[in-house]
Order: sequence, then structure tokens, then C-alpha cells
Amino acid sequence: MGARRLPTKDMLSRFGVVMDGGCGMCSSGLESRDHLFFDCAYAKEIWTAILLSCGLSQTPLDWYGSFQWLLLNLKGKSLLVHILRLAWTGFIYFIWEERNHIHFGGTHRLAGAVVSCIKESVRIKLHITHMNRIDDVNRELCIY
Ligand SMILES: [Zn+2]
Repeated sequence: MGARRLPTKDMLSRFGVVMDGGCGMCSSGLESRDHLFFDCAYAKEIWTAILLSCGLSQTPLDWYGSFQWLLLNLKGKSLLVHILRLAWTGFIYFIWEERNHIHFGGTHRLAGAVVSCIKESVRIKLHITHMNRIDDVNRELCIY
């Protein structure tokens, strides 16, 4: 899921949908796509935890720019890049899910709970990739 087309509050207000416009996750700042994924203190806490889990301790000011930098500079470490990409996809997904939780009156989860969800999604996807690789090996074993 791309983050570009998400109906954030700033976008909805341009269509005349009236709401408070505030970010429910950090309770400060207006909710926009850029705020949710690049500026929200709550989202930053989660992404920083993910980077730390990957053994990357950078907590830069321009953290999205840093993500791009990481992908460019970790070219040789393909598994780590693969994990980071999966984590980034999971991050976008779960931040939006959390935003909707709050938006529709649900309880606000602690950042750590969302981090666990993202890690779990990465684990599942890695497992699937791993299984596919085994299938390839099996197929080769059958051919040769
Ligand atoms: Zn926020």
C-alpha cells in the first residue's frame, strides 16, 4: 500500500469533511501524510525501534532521507536491505492501521506493541521467502 493516496484529515478537509484535523497518535501536529509517516513523534519512536532491531542506531533528523541512504549503502548486505524494505512496508501499514484504530474510537496502542506487529509481519514474510527458496532447491533436485 502506498502512503500517497491515504485519506488523511488534511486531505478530507479539502473535500469539505469537517473534523478536528489533529493527529490522534501524538496529540500534537496536524494529521497529514507527511506528519503521519515522517514527522509524528509516535511513528518516529516506532521506526527508531525497528532500526535498532536491525542493528542500526542512527536516529537522524531527516529520518526518511536516512532510510533512502541506508538502502543505497547497504547494497552488499542484501538480507538486511530485504528486511528493511519489509519493515518499511509493515511500518506504513501498521501506522495507518493504528491511525484508523484511534480515528474510529479504538484504544491507542503503545509504540512497542506496534513494533511487535511490524516485526511479526517481517518474520512471516521472511519465512515465506525462505520457503520459496526451499521450493526452488527442491525443484532443482527433482530436475537434476
Ligand atoms: Zn502525530
